[in-house]
Formats: sequence, structure tokens, C-alpha cells
Amino acid sequence: MAKRAFIGRDALEEICRRYPTPFHLYDEREIRARARALNAAFSWNPGFKEYFAVKATPNPSIVRLLAEEGCGCDCATGVELMLASACGVGGRDIMLSSNDTPDEDFRLAARMGAIINLDSADMVDCLSRALGGALPETVCLRLNPGGSFEVPDNPAGRPAESKFGMTEEQLFDSYRRLRDAGVTEFGLHSFLLSNAQGNEYYPALARLLFGLAVRVRDELGIAISFVDLSGGVGVAYRETDAEADIAAIGAGVRVAYEDILVPAGMGDIAIFAELGRWMCGPAGALVTRVIHKKETYRAFLGVDACAADLMRPALYDAYHHITVMGKEDAPLTCTYNVVGGLCENNDQFARDRVLPETEIGDLLFIHDTGAHGHAMGYNYNGRLRSAELLLREDGSVRLIRRAEKPSDYFATLDIDDEFTNALTRGN
Ligand SMILES: *Cc1c(COP(=O)(O)O)cnc(C)c1O
Repeated sequence: MAKRAFIGRDALEEICRRYPTPFHLYDEREIRARARALNAAFSWNPGFKEYFAVKATPNPSIVRLLAEEGCGCDCATGVELMLASACGVGGRDIMLSSNDTPDEDFRLAARMGAIINLDSADMVDCLSRALGGALPETVCLRLNPGGSFEVPDNPAGRPAESKFGMTEEQLFDSYRRLRDAGVTEFGLHSFLLSNAQGNEYYPALARLLFGLAVRVRDELGIAISFVDLSGGVGVAYRETDAEADIAAIGAGVRVAYEDILVPAGMGDIAIFAELGRWMCGPAGALVTRVIHKKETYRAFLGVDACAADLMRPALYDAYHHITVMGKEDAPLTCTYNVVGGLCENNDQFARDRVLPETEIGDLLFIHDTGAHGHAMGYNYNGRLRSAELLLREDGSVRLIRRAEKPSDYFATLDIDDEFTNALTRGN
């Protein structure tokens, strides 16, 4: 489907007068609409809950508006737990789905009453040790089924090559040990495909996990109370990609639920999700201005953003659609590489991209950066991380994270050193 920016050029230029480019802009209306569509798609399951994957867009203003829509938080680290807590999200509305977890993160999660999801079998002991011998009442386990995992519209996933989760045998053994140690409530989690296309991923994963939940009950006498389908539902980065149909996905999971769990007398299991990309990806954009044009063996548009603002193209060769603001209907007559200023040749937002003829000063709207965009930012080359802005439903704009200043970059230096002290003071 043709992609349009969620804001017009004049309104965007108005914003740029107050907040210089580059910045990430998020669309509150779209984020809320997505949360509501997800909750509606799973409303057949009374216990359904989305735990927003905080790592995708770790901004308290975004996390809070998702919390208003009934979403909890999925956290991977102590700092993400602190962020969730600062947003007023606590207790069982937080899921710690971490891996390679330090003891202090387990302790913080337990103090907050969060649900803890264990990535590996040895963490049963780690958790118990971290908590001084006592386990929480509720523990979730993360399965890695090994082999390969195939659903239509996606390249085969290779769980056997992934670092995440535990084998089925380890999972059964861990449930047994947790039960014997007094744990009374159990969850089951798995995450097998990222940015899954089409509508088949969640239903296929649900079938696998529901079947396993029945076997856990039959073989161990353990009643699993929630199945966490985790993240992975994809977005349409390309105009040729189809948008996931969240209602169809919810209906597909329901069919699996009614096929497998209901006949087994397990129709009280709650479904949890930990979506990140699908919740916010299409609701954000990186706004940047063309500051140079250059022609060598290719034509380049140099922009004022760089891979430090959006790493996915450099890291995964990921496609992000680009709109030249105000030229939405102009003929596509030019082929450009759209590049940032890092001293790294992979700092290219697009290669051989067909666009309208573009001039210095034009604003570019790089689509679908609302998840895993600003979040993955870094400071290489002394690049300062950009601002984040929220376009409110009433059309107003709020600065929800200011751009970094040089003093932020220098703030962690040794302040007892007279040279670095001058830097931190001087900026
Ligand atoms: C990254 C992650 C998510 C979110 O994944 P998306 O692809 O953004 O939906 C959810 N759960 C866990 C454990 C993750 O690591």
C-alpha cells in the first residue's frame, strides 16, 4: 500500500521551527489505535494482556500512554524495570523477560512483584540464590523448541541456532523443580520469529505452546495459568508488504485455543503478548533534512540524521520507506543513496532509492522508526542522540525527550581530571 506521512509538510516545517532536525516524531493517535485493536482482537480471552516490550521505545511518555490503554511492560533489564516503575506500572503488570540475567535484576523484579520469565534451566538456581532461597509464587519459563520453525510468508526461523530459551526436556525438569520448591503459578513463553509477516505466526506458535501446556498438565500435574506469545508480529516496512491483520491473528489464536485447550479442560488460560515493533513501529518516523548533495559514481543525498539515530539499515540492511515532504505526488525520476555523516560506509538509510528530484533543504520523513529506532541509538563519532517528539491527538506537539547536548556526551568523564572537567563545565 502507498505510504503517506502521518503529517503534512507545512505542519512539519512548523514543528522544525521549534525543534531542529533530526528528531523522531511519534503519532499518539496511531499508538492508541494499535493498542485498542490488539485488545479488541484478543477480547475473547478474559485474561489477555499486552506487556509492551519497553526496549522498542523506552520513553516514559509512550509507555504511559500504552499503560492508559491497559498495557503492562515487558522489561529485559533493571533499568527498564525502573523506567516501567516510574511510569506507574508495577506488580504483575510487569514481565521480566531477560536472558543472561544478573542477580540484582532478579532481586529488583521480585521486590517490584513483577512476573519473572526464566530463559534457561540453570536460572532456577540463580533465581533462588538471588532471592536468598525463596522463590516467587509465579514463574514463567521460556521454551526453545530447537530445529526450524516455519510459517507461510516468512523465511524459516532457526530456533536451534538462537541463544534464547531452554529445551523441552529442560523445561519439564524446571517446572518439576519449581513445583517441588513451592512455586504455585506457572507461565509458558516462547519467541521464534522477529518481524513476522502475514497472520500465521502467532496462531502457529500458540498451537505449539498450547499442546505443550496440555502435556505439562498431563505429565507433571501442573496447571499453566498463562501462555506468553511474546513479540515478533511484524510491520509493513515496504509498500509491497501487507500489514498484519491483528483481528485475523487474534481469531487464529482463538481457533487454536478452542481446538486444543478448551477440549482439555484448560479454557481458563490467559494469553499474554509482548509486542514492541507492531505497537509502535509504524507510529514513528525519523525526520531529517537534506544538507548536502553529491554526485560521484552515484548520487547521494546527505542528511542531518545518521545511523546513530536509526541503526537498522546499517545493522540489518533494513528497508525504511522515505517520503520527500511536499513532493508526495511528484514523479519518481531520480535514484539516490540517502546517507548520514558517520565515518562508516554502512551509514546509508537507503541505497539506489527512487525518489522525486530532491534539493538541499528538503525534509525527509523516514517511515516506521517508532520501534527499535531511537532506542538503538548510540554516540559514535561524537554524534549526539536526537530528540523525541509526540504528536498529540489534538495536533499539538510535546518534546518527550530533548536532544543530547555536548555536556551529556562528556558527563561520564572523570570530573577530577582538569581537562575533562573543563569539557563538562563548558558545554
Ligand atoms: C524484543 C523482544 C520483544 C519485542 O519484540 P518485537 O519484535 O518488537 O515485537 C518481546 N519480548 C522479548 C523477550 C524480546 O526480547
